Amino acid sequence: MRELTYVARRTVEWREAPDPTIRSSDDAIVAPVAATPCDVDSSILAGHGFVAPPFALGHECVARVVETGDAVTAVAPGDLVVVPWSINCGDCDRCRAGLTAHCTAVPYMAMYGAPVGGNWGGLFSDLVRVPYADAMLVPLPAGLDPVAMASASDNWSLAWRLIAPHLKDRPGARVLVVARGSIGLYVCDIARALGACDVLYVDPDPEHRALARGFGAVTAESLESVPRGYDLAVEATGRVDQLAATVKCLAPEGICESAGNHFRPGELPLLDMYLTGVTLRIARDNVRAHIPEALALAAAGEVDPGKVVSHVIDWDDLPNALPEKHLKPVFVRADV
Ligand SMILES: [Zn+2]
Ligand SMILES: [Zn+2]
Repeated sequence: MRELTYVARRTVEWREAPDPTIRSSDDAIVAPVAATPCDVDSSILAGHGFVAPPFALGHECVARVVETGDAVTAVAPGDLVVVPWSINCGDCDRCRAGLTAHCTAVPYMAMYGAPVGGNWGGLFSDLVRVPYADAMLVPLPAGLDPVAMASASDNWSLAWRLIAPHLKDRPGARVLVVARGSIGLYVCDIARALGACDVLYVDPDPEHRALARGFGAVTAESLESVPRGYDLAVEATGRVDQLAATVKCLAPEGICESAGNHFRPGELPLLDMYLTGVTLRIARDNVRAHIPEALALAAAGEVDPGKVVSHVIDWDDLPNALPEKHLKPVFVRADV
């Protein structure tokens, strides 16, 4: 089988690898049918990643189950499933507490698409082995489009977690979104669906801003200071100066969620944050724990993540098309 392999800045290529096989009775083998780059993949492709190439890329996809081990009961061959970005066993104390990105049964940072906690391959591969399949895989609800939901492995479900629980606690909150890619747009869509008012989306890209307006947000090219303006804020830029400006716009006891991936150091206005009473959360997403609840919102027809999909591209074109700068291309296969 082929693995799309990141080999150098802005360069990926197919490399042959042995077909993965069932190694344990709780494994599954899946074939991605719709896969898409995470916002962080564009940083990796631009050469800003923290792991030296070559390695298999990709950690967002909807896949079809091809084969299951004898102990797997939750999914069966032929099922469409969401494959979470991080590897988790579902059974250790952390997994049981919902901290699936911190599973103790696998090496620290075990994930698809970057060999930082063992090598689990990437989801831009023809076939993928999924350990702990019953705990990992989430069946795609009937009626949902794999292309629209390809990002449920990470960015889309992350966007749900960044805003949905807070809006439940603070209905009608004023929301600020400072972003550069798909995550912020998904947040706008979900925030509108869950009753936020006054969503401001800040992004220098006019195409992104047009999409945000389609989700009911007001938009701006850059962030003007709005002291005490917003109850909730989401920062997804990877830039500390933008995070600093974002927290300065929070209302008293406001909450800022950062999608992280700050590869460079920087300073935050800690005294301002103290005086305002800011809660800042910057956390890798325990995505598996909330994929089902996020998918339920999509299955209810309340949101439209397919609007963020910028291009639908044939799987075989991955090496040429992935390094191009697109908002959210989805690579699809007709043969599985
Ligand atoms: Zn990611
Ligand atoms: Zn675990």
